[in-house]
Parts: sequence; structure tokens; C-alpha cells
Amino acid sequence: MIEDNVRKLREEITQICTKIGRNASEITVIAVSKVRSAKEIKEVVESGITDIGESKVQEAKEKLNILRATNYAAQNIKWHMVGHLQTNKARDAVKIFDLIHSIDSVRLAKELDLQAAKIGKVQDILVQVKTSSEPAKFGFSPQETIEAVEKISKFKNLKVSGLMTIAPIVDEPEEARPYFRMLREIKDKITQALNPKPQALILSMGMSDDFKVAIEEGATMLRLGRVIFEG
Ligand SMILES: *Cc1c(COP(=O)(O)O)cnc(C)c1O
Repeated sequence: MIEDNVRKLREEITQICTKIGRNASEITVIAVSKVRSAKEIKEVVESGITDIGESKVQEAKEKLNILRATNYAAQNIKWHMVGHLQTNKARDAVKIFDLIHSIDSVRLAKELDLQAAKIGKVQDILVQVKTSSEPAKFGFSPQETIEAVEKISKFKNLKVSGLMTIAPIVDEPEEARPYFRMLREIKDKITQALNPKPQALILSMGMSDDFKVAIEEGATMLRLGRVIFEG
């Protein structure tokens, strides 16, 4: 069933990309597996997904342990932290995650930089932007994002790879469009403002209900739970 869901999803992504002249290979699908089991993660990986997202450090740790204990080739999976990260979890987070999407304060960035330095890692991160007042509780306001990116870019053991946002819950996917567009516009401003110019920045936006609109607005990472695990 998960396999069917993933196949159908890939077809939909390709269709939208073809329609708007984007290349589907620019888009990374992250299967957000919070509340799903390690067994379901295996199924997803066997369907060709290479990126797994979790929203809690402890839950990710437990599933990783199960996957490792069953000799599963967990090293081929890229792990993404998509939920709010508390500063006191930074130490564990840098050990587990390839990309942390939810940097919402300079204080958290500072702690991650410190912990990454301790294990000799440059931690890939995204800066979370609060593009709407609801439901996102976390993230920098659009006005403060550029300055935050500039500050966070100075940490030697962090690499700012892009931006993330969570659109509000709306009745029609179309209503999410302004929030995705806002994130893209902030990205464009950052690309112009930063010196040296950053590489192409990631836009992590779009969930099960609104990923099609997110692709149209330039998403390069989709965070998908229900559409993959439930169809
Ligand atoms: C749960 C979650 C998702 C996936 O949500 P679906 O609606 O199930 O696709 C994406 N991003 C974040 C931050 C989440 O917590």
C-alpha cells in the first residue's frame, strides 16, 4: 500500500512539474514518519524514498536503534528533523540528523554550532520562517529572517542551506499559496543580500494537503506524511 502511494505521488509530482516547466529531479520527497513505526519506515525506504523526517529527537532515536538492530541499511537514509527543537536536545540532534529544518532562534543555532563542533561536524540547517500567525508557533518573522540568516551564517559549524515554513491549515490548498510565495520571495532577497552569494537555497514547504501548490511556488523539499503512509 505504501508502495502504491509513493508511486502515485511520484506521478503527481512529475505531472505538475511538466505542466509548469520544472524538473521533478529538483524535488526531494521527505517521508515524515512521526507516529509511524520502524517497520513502516522500512516499507517507505523499499519504495525508493531516501529521506525520512521526524518531529521529535527521542522518537527518531528509538526508531534508528530498531533499524540498526535489524541490520537495516539505515546509513543510506538521510534523516531530517522537521519539528521544533529544544536547545537541550541539540546534542542528540547533531548526532542523528543530516538536515535540521527548524532553526527558529539564534540561541538554538548557537547551541547546535557548539554541539556540532564537539563531534567535528558541520551541521546542515534550514531557517524556519513564520509566514502566518497560525498554526505555526515557531520561526522567525519574515521581517527578521534576513538578519537571522546573516547571523547564523557566521557560525562555523553550521551550514545554512535554505528556508522552511509551515503553511496554515486552510480549507482549500490554494489558500496556502501566499505563504509559500512569501517564503520564495524571502529566499530571493537573501540570495541577493548575502555576500558571498549562497548556493541555490532549499525551500522546504508543502505537506500532504498543499504540496501541489508548494511545487508551483518553487518548493524543493516536500514534507509528506499522510499522503505516503495513508494514501
Ligand atoms: C507532520 C508534519 C508534516 C507532514 O504532515 P502531513 O500533513 O501528514 O503530510 C510536515 N511537516 C511537519 C513540520 C510536520 O510536523
